[in-house]
Amino acid sequence: MAFGKRVNVRKSSTALPLRRRKPVLGQHFLRDEAAAQRIIEALGDLSGKTVLEIGPGTGALTRRLIARARRVIAIELDKVLAAQLRMGLALVRNAEIIEGDVLAIDFDTIFGPKPGNSRPGLEYVPQPATVVGNLPYYITSDILLRLFAYRRYFDTLVIMVQRELADRIVARPGSRDYGLLSATAQLYAKVERLFSFAPGSFTPPPKVHSTVLRLTLAPQLEKLGVAEDRFIHFLKLSFGQKRKTLWNNLKLEYDAALLRAALEQAGISANVRAEALPLEKAAALFRALSSGQRGS
Ligand code: SAM
Repeated sequence: MAFGKRVNVRKSSTALPLRRRKPVLGQHFLRDEAAAQRIIEALGDLSGKTVLEIGPGTGALTRRLIARARRVIAIELDKVLAAQLRMGLALVRNAEIIEGDVLAIDFDTIFGPKPGNSRPGLEYVPQPATVVGNLPYYITSDILLRLFAYRRYFDTLVIMVQRELADRIVARPGSRDYGLLSATAQLYAKVERLFSFAPGSFTPPPKVHSTVLRLTLAPQLEKLGVAEDRFIHFLKLSFGQKRKTLWNNLKLEYDAALLRAALEQAGISANVRAEALPLEKAAALFRALSSGQRGS
């Protein structure tokens, strides 16, 4: 099959017609051709790039990707869909369909050094891949956290998520939607809301609207002077109970005198809630607490 030719994976005798498939595994397939095209265009020039597609399903995005990218690696959990897509793309040389769970797959094996591309004494620097996916909404946050953990392999993520989740990811400090997910996403990436689609763009239609986001990976950890694991733990603690003040959340783990001194040093009132704090302020408080702990 020539690159970019339509892959008709629906004709397999074992396949249920799409409208009769239960939307398990977040299976709402994109049927709006113009929508698929806009998502692909949001990826920019892919000619020299490897693209990782999460949940290719019936291939609405995949067949466009293979026409544009140097290499496409698609991970699909549904055994039948993965087999159908692999069959449909059997003659396509730049596509690889992996049946697997994106939350468990070993990215080091896929993107890490291979015998022959690593040299003794030279650090292996991977060519960053672009990630795309109309994500299964039931695990969107977990997928994002996993991609952030393996960010050494990726530079850009263009993802479709439930509109309400997109609102939380792009929310600014002080707004109603700002929370742990916003802080974490913005710690690792520049986030942009691109466009939204109504339920009718999918088969079967979901109950919610969908929004496409672009996340350009640009981790802030070094700039903020914070150690990754401990700062993430601090953010989780700060946002622990949404209705509680920062003081009440943090006092679960920090001594009151230390907390008071650190809040003062960072210029933060004890009555604020974590959602009011920009990342720079949260990091200043974290650094003050860490140096206080070291000094005691
Ligand atoms: N990309 C296709 C499209 O736009 O039509 C399908 C999108 S559908 C919203 C989500 C896809 O993710 C489904 O094909 C589903 O089987 C797959 N999926 C669900 N959970 C997954 C997981 N843990 N790992 C990989 N794929 C998964």
